[in-house]
Amino acid sequence: MSRAPLRIGIVGGGIAGVGLALGLSRHRHLDVQLFESAPAFGEIGAGVSFGPNAVRALAGLGMGEAYAELADRTPAPWQDVWFQWRRGEDARLLGETLAPGVGQSSVHRADFLDALARRLPFGLARFGKRAVGVEQRDDGIRVDFTDGTSYEGDVLIAADGIKSALRGDVLAGLGLPQAAPRFTGTCAYRGLIDSDRLRAALIARGVDMALIDVPQMLLGLDAHILTFPVKQGRLINVVAFVSDRSEADPQWHPQQPWVREASWREMLNAYADWGVAAQTLLECIDTPTHWALHDLAQLPGYVYGRLGLIGDAAHATLPHQGAGAGQGLEDAYLLAQLLAEPGLTAAQIPEVLQVYDRLRRPRACGVQQTSWEAGELYELRDPLAGDDDARLKVTLATRFDWIWNYDLEDEVARARQALGWATSVTA
Ligand SMILES: Cc1cc2nc3c(=O)[nH]c(=O)nc-3n(C[C@H](O)[C@H](O)[C@H](O)COP(=O)(O)OP(=O)(O)OC[C@H]3O[C@@H](n4cnc5c(N)ncnc54)[C@H](O)[C@@H]3O)c2cc1C
Repeated sequence: MSRAPLRIGIVGGGIAGVGLALGLSRHRHLDVQLFESAPAFGEIGAGVSFGPNAVRALAGLGMGEAYAELADRTPAPWQDVWFQWRRGEDARLLGETLAPGVGQSSVHRADFLDALARRLPFGLARFGKRAVGVEQRDDGIRVDFTDGTSYEGDVLIAADGIKSALRGDVLAGLGLPQAAPRFTGTCAYRGLIDSDRLRAALIARGVDMALIDVPQMLLGLDAHILTFPVKQGRLINVVAFVSDRSEADPQWHPQQPWVREASWREMLNAYADWGVAAQTLLECIDTPTHWALHDLAQLPGYVYGRLGLIGDAAHATLPHQGAGAGQGLEDAYLLAQLLAEPGLTAAQIPEVLQVYDRLRRPRACGVQQTSWEAGELYELRDPLAGDDDARLKVTLATRFDWIWNYDLEDEVARARQALGWATSVTA
């Protein structure tokens, strides 16, 4: 006897929401809908890098081919290098971090989201749908949109980013206080540089060419700069961070935008006492943008009834480990594996979400915490490493392994065991 397909709604079409939609849309017995507030999918023109764990999650969600077509890898002989670490004042090499088999793997954000969106089944995504709240019953969940329409499903996954409109429903349902994004005290200048132009500028100043061929992190007091290639090496993605640690609880004025254009002069002034390598990099950014970086406190719960949070809606973090989007993809992978289970009934959804919460939350919170700590380390404020070259080198070599070596299949197996399901995984 055939049953009605499980109805799964996803709110938000960023990397996490589209990743989940792609992972679920391969299963014909599911009825999946994605609701995006914007008129089309959209990402900024900057790079995003993925660690080995995130690359495995991408592949598991059926995004591996789209990713491989666009992804940049560090050229040989540096193919396993994630980043080289240097001091900002003179670009002297401190050491490097290796991610064997993956190295630094990155894509142009807008190109990647476009490629993913093209792979979604026609009609699965609806645009101009801004979610404002949910209503839960024993047998279903309804989400309302600002255009007066609504959607009824068996489960709703909110992937609506750091400013999530639905996070409040989860926290209120759990009887917890609301969690607003908080300013971290760190701002970033971002830009893309034509790699031929940067090469010419580095040659003219006699700067080490590794700065362009190998992903770099330049470290300094209360500031650091990272570079990695995108668009098959034609562009170099630059993010230059500056932190103000004078306030224990820094505030960003609600009227001030998080992102704005920045002047070249303003950016260069922030690094006035840095060396020629850093100056040359920054001088090649024609139109820098300035980002006030916000994150979320570690949440005490990601799910309530039939509503679950994934991605930045649940655990927005400082970007210092290049791991935020990867955590959203890991969330999507586990949920896709569980929700696609043949025979899963609408009545079992709350239990499935509970298990998702139990397994994902400690890990994502760990990434949030260590991302903050990484910023302290890179900006010479770590209580143990300080600005000691040897200590920095040792701790930077291995501190990311626990993120990258995570076993996603083991997590799925643990979830299945917690649910009392057979341990083999559905295709
Ligand atoms: C400077 C910087 C560098 C970074 N670098 C990296 C990196 O190298 N690697 C990495 O892994 N991570 C990185 N990150 C983090 C990464 O960008 C995020 O973790 C990731 O993009 C979050 O994806 P998401 O899908 O959860 O949310 P988002 O990308 O924010 O997507 C949310 C979507 O929901 C939609 N939406 C919002 N509200 C509603 C609503 N009410 N109804 C319907 N739709 C709605 C939005 O329009 C949007 O499309 C970086 C972040 C920053 C700031």
